[in-house]
Amino acid sequence: MTTPPEAPRIVTPYPGPRARRVLERLRAAEGSGLRTSAADSPLVVETAAGSVIHDPDGNAFVDLYASFAAANLGHAHPEVVAAIREQAGRAIHVSSGFGSEIRADVVEALLAMAPAGLDRVVLGITGADANETAIKLARSATGRREIIAFSGGYFGRLSGVVGVDGKAGLRAASGLPPDAHFFPFPYPYRWRHGPREAAGAAALELLEEALQSPASGLGPVAAIVVEPVQGNGGVVIPPAEFLPGLRRLCDEHGILLVFDEVQSGFGRTGRLWAGEHWGVVPDLMTVGKGIGGGMAVSAVLGRESILGRWKPGTHTSTFLTNAVNMAAARAALGVMSRDRLWERSAHLGAGLLAGLQRDLGDLPWVGEVRGLGLFVGIEIVADRESRRPDPVRALRIREAALSTGVVIGGGGHFENVIKLAPPLTIAPDLLAAGVQATVAAIRGTA
Ligand code: PLP
Repeated sequence: MTTPPEAPRIVTPYPGPRARRVLERLRAAEGSGLRTSAADSPLVVETAAGSVIHDPDGNAFVDLYASFAAANLGHAHPEVVAAIREQAGRAIHVSSGFGSEIRADVVEALLAMAPAGLDRVVLGITGADANETAIKLARSATGRREIIAFSGGYFGRLSGVVGVDGKAGLRAASGLPPDAHFFPFPYPYRWRHGPREAAGAAALELLEEALQSPASGLGPVAAIVVEPVQGNGGVVIPPAEFLPGLRRLCDEHGILLVFDEVQSGFGRTGRLWAGEHWGVVPDLMTVGKGIGGGMAVSAVLGRESILGRWKPGTHTSTFLTNAVNMAAARAALGVMSRDRLWERSAHLGAGLLAGLQRDLGDLPWVGEVRGLGLFVGIEIVADRESRRPDPVRALRIREAALSTGVVIGGGGHFENVIKLAPPLTIAPDLLAAGVQATVAAIRGTA
């Protein structure tokens, strides 16, 4: 007899009394509440290991979102935990002004995994600060200021990057201005400028024309910043010609190509870096989320000709090279390289995508199920003909999934896309159980 997976298991309807008390305390102390979550009752975490999260009321959730697509190795990977414990007994904090062997190990490991030609690293703490650094580097290397970004792109919420995010609403409250020229991302399902099959070529044509015309509004452009696969935008996969075309335009116009692989990288899409699907190497690449094994580590990778220009002191932050963070990252990078988890992502992801397309193919409110590796987006629409986004149903689906013990993500240009991005280490039985509950939530039978 096979034992059932430990999750999903709901013993107290969520939020139970202990979770509710935590949420009340947070709301009371944090002003208007948990500001990164639109949910009424975001999940309260007591413990997290592998692909299972426990709340304080005895419930066990399957994490099909890897806590914002970051727990690529799973929560509390034993090798990461051992590395953190060991390092904490040796030195917890080594400031960025000092060196350490462990810091050298991390930057070398990152370079060993980097796309060919990217031979220098600047460490960071969050995805947003890595993107700020990349933009700073691009501006100082080119002596130009302007940035090109795309609809639906997401680079974080710090002041230095919120201006390049596609969603203007993210900067509405702070009053920060846009800081990019925005062009349409080739989003085949929602493309309206000609045939969907030609979305990539059409998006490139618009850009090329603007770069050539003296009256397009563009000044000297330092960088084009783009996620190879949009994450927050709803797992939007560009057509084959798009990223190679951006590479060509950048080369022709002396513009630096910046890939944000904070979410799409580190095995998520079935390759180590998503750019590999199209054989494109950027000038600068930002990484974060999973590379710290759960600790706050990010980085910008690039060439010596760009990263070697800054004088000492141009850029730093006290905790950039925190030793416990470095220990966790060294362990996480080691596990990823040794276990080649991107291959697992490709294999499990192909089965996941085919299963979901089969199980949801008859529903009028599922417009498209797309994915690359363990990175899946499900378009929730009013109906298949109009393709009108239905963010209200999408939110209800996420709440229904949570109530049955499964954490799924949300996003999309219109907040109507259900996102699945489980740990790349997830056990097949847990994945199957989580997917079954997700399908029930989408079908409305949860
Ligand atoms: N870039 C991408 C593509 C992301 O998905 C995110 C976060 O979701 C960020 C940047 C920002 O990273 P962080 O939240 O660590 O600042």
